[in-house]
Amino acid sequence: MYIANQNFARLPESYLFSEVARKIKEYKAASPHVDVIRMDIGDVSLPLPACVVEAMVKAAQEMGRSATFHGYGPEQGYPFLREAVAEYDYRARGIDCIEADDIFISDGAKSDLANLGDIFGQNLRPAVVTPAYPVYIDSNVLSGRGGTLQNGRWSGITYLPATPQHDFAPSLPAEGVSADVIYLCYPNNPTGAVITMERLRQWVEYARSHGALIIFDSAYEAYISTPGIPHSIYEVEGADEVAIEVRSFSKTAGFTGVRCGYTVVPRRLKFTFVDGTAANLNRMWSRRQCTKFNGVGYVVQRAAEALYTPEGREAIRENVGYYMRNAAMLRTTLLATGAEVSGGLDAPYVWFRPAEEGDSWTLFERMLHRHSISSTPGVGFGREGEGWLRLTGFNTEQLTIQACDRLRQP
Ligand code: PLP
Repeated sequence: MYIANQNFARLPESYLFSEVARKIKEYKAASPHVDVIRMDIGDVSLPLPACVVEAMVKAAQEMGRSATFHGYGPEQGYPFLREAVAEYDYRARGIDCIEADDIFISDGAKSDLANLGDIFGQNLRPAVVTPAYPVYIDSNVLSGRGGTLQNGRWSGITYLPATPQHDFAPSLPAEGVSADVIYLCYPNNPTGAVITMERLRQWVEYARSHGALIIFDSAYEAYISTPGIPHSIYEVEGADEVAIEVRSFSKTAGFTGVRCGYTVVPRRLKFTFVDGTAANLNRMWSRRQCTKFNGVGYVVQRAAEALYTPEGREAIRENVGYYMRNAAMLRTTLLATGAEVSGGLDAPYVWFRPAEEGDSWTLFERMLHRHSISSTPGVGFGREGEGWLRLTGFNTEQLTIQACDRLRQP
């Protein structure tokens, strides 16, 4: 029986990380005396903050007593966490248009970024800034919006190249180019670029005038330190009628293994069904969650709530500061070697093209064999990434210092 989703067969094997791992293994086998420093890691190295652990222990103890046990919770998330997000991540930062009912607690940003496609029409055209975090494209391909693949481009997807000539800020789609659901990610993974307020305003204006929806992935907003750079798309007036925002506790508080984030689907979003009748995306997302998701665990949500206490916010500041010192160290070191560098200022990612050029896999091998440092080949994030490498600030300070010492060697 033809029961398998054919779109899985269309999607090329994602061999980026397995290939990186294979090459590192091969190199280690050939040079057992050297330690490879993993500067490609997308996972964090600092443990959970103490206040988070305390909240988890307390919540786990509640779960062990019948009087305080929690079974199925609300699919949208517990009010205590939705309220804390609305209060501290939005109202306290001057964004009044977002309320607890607009916020949906998730098990991390990745699944929501992929699953949001459930509430969009089948025949719309996604537009993706490239190079890109792979989920945006792959999830659309799996749900049948990819079309055919030729020369690394899906016919059903509009590509918005982010190039060094324009500080990795993509241009708005040209007149006549369709872009119905636009994926923007700032601070960006992998380029480490940020978006200016003026540019973000242009995107919101574009969406408003073209009937497009923006999905704003701000998983790294806590890494912004430059004043004036927007942390949320809702800092732009009117964005609550055209944008969904996706966030994560993974990289700010060590939640990569705990799994928690949230998605903002404002009740004021203005879209329609294909027949022109009004659609309420907030209600549709709620319905989608009730149908396919049973909510994030109570213990995990209490852990996330602890991040909104003074201790929690201080822990986030410390974590982000730690990783950003690493990223800044990498950036300075690479610039001194003559590389062209993006990121490492308001993002934990450092994206660079070494002075001695080559394609991404040649550069990867060269760095591995010369310095015993592993990186991520830029081409793995799309063809605009060819000739670039990505390093991250997520390793320990000690290993980052060692990596920088190695990078300074010829
Ligand atoms: N969005 C971007 C841009 C990311 O880089 C990542 C993780 O690396 C995610 C979302 C997913 O984060 P989470 O751990 O919350 O699923």
